[in-house]
Amino acid sequence: MRVLVSGAGIAGLSLGLLLERRGVEVVIAERARRLEPLGHYIGLKGNGVRTVERMGLLDACRAREQRLDGVRFHTPSGRLLRENRATRLERELGGVLFFRRADLHAALHEAVAGKVELRLGTEVQALEAGPERVEVRLSDGRSEAFDALIGADGVRSPTRARVFGSGHEVPLGGRYIALTVEVDHGLDPRFVAAYLGRGQMVGLIPIGPRVASPFVYHADGGEQPASRSAADVRDFLLRACGDFGAPVRRTFEAIDASSYVFTDSITMVRPPRIVKGRVALLGDAAACPTFLSGMGSALALQGAYHLARALEEHPGDVPAALLRYEAGIRPIAARYQQSAWKMRGFVLGRSRVRAAVRDAALAWMPDRLFVREAQRFYAAERAASPA
Ligand SMILES: Cc1cc2nc3c(=O)[nH]c(=O)nc-3n(C[C@H](O)[C@H](O)[C@H](O)COP(=O)(O)OP(=O)(O)OC[C@H]3O[C@@H](n4cnc5c(N)ncnc54)[C@H](O)[C@@H]3O)c2cc1C
Repeated sequence: MRVLVSGAGIAGLSLGLLLERRGVEVVIAERARRLEPLGHYIGLKGNGVRTVERMGLLDACRAREQRLDGVRFHTPSGRLLRENRATRLERELGGVLFFRRADLHAALHEAVAGKVELRLGTEVQALEAGPERVEVRLSDGRSEAFDALIGADGVRSPTRARVFGSGHEVPLGGRYIALTVEVDHGLDPRFVAAYLGRGQMVGLIPIGPRVASPFVYHADGGEQPASRSAADVRDFLLRACGDFGAPVRRTFEAIDASSYVFTDSITMVRPPRIVKGRVALLGDAAACPTFLSGMGSALALQGAYHLARALEEHPGDVPAALLRYEAGIRPIAARYQQSAWKMRGFVLGRSRVRAAVRDAALAWMPDRLFVREAQRFYAAERAASPA
């Protein structure tokens, strides 16, 4: 069997690795000319951790993880609302791996290097999906036939647009920004500090005493950055977060031209189908649950795992395997998306009353209840754990 994967992100590399181990010939076409260590901190939980374990990558990921003692929630001005310890959450959620998206990407890249044909600077230019084969023309000039085409090319997937049409992106009304900055932040280096405003949340992840990795959720309707450049994002953050306390402002002031900024709108992807004949979508391309779910990378890993298993179980019938994959992954994606909708009100809501209720709940909720809420938020994972 010969499979073409469009996109060498988390989903594409994971699928390449899992298929190669099952003896499938895989070609990955990646638009970027180089695989660079891009992306900021992500937290894999429960099934995400179990999936990297099944892939044999747990040690490679643990070697790269950032250990922290927990999270402290504050008002924008810095009043402490709550402190949560990581150990208990880790236990109750079935494991947590906190590291950079770039670290997960690097661990996957290392694992596939030399085993899977990775064509950088290459994308699909035209395709014809027939009942027996998918014929593609690639930007490197080659025309080839494959048994299946998997679109793992991200939230704005060109494969999705080509095969499933447009209009499947649902903006949730906000922007996500993540960056890394050299700064004497003055924070306790053992805790993530999260500052909750109205329609805004700023998280500061201390990486030792002199580096911070901030992440920001910002509701639409007010200020917007003039461009994605570090300078414009810095100016925007300083304007938009004027009422946040000293650690936040100090961190934003330290953003300079060398800071790598990741920013995108918070957009959910919800096409009615993710499989058509011999073409399937995977990861964000299929069902981006947004940054608000905290489950984008876990879903990409789980999707790759489900897809590889389905192809293994239906070796002579690719369309049946893809339908099996679709039936398995869609309910999982739908539950992560439900969680993201819930989180939307909590983080992007601008209502003063709602923010006051949220802050009071954070301040007074007993630990046992908080953990139960967190478990419920991620419950989709345990219920949907692949066998
Ligand atoms: C550079 C980058 C940085 C990121 N940083 C963060 C972060 O800091 N925090 C966070 O929460 N999430 C981040 N993400 C998103 C996160 O990786 C995904 O939401 C999640 O892991 C799902 O993975 P995915 O493989 O489906 O999509 P992605 O990881 O987005 O991967 C999609 C891949 O497809 C490639 N591609 C796009 N179009 C084409 C095409 N036409 N042909 C071939 N290849 C194509 C892209 O270059 C990319 O490599 C980042 C994504 C990228 C690409």
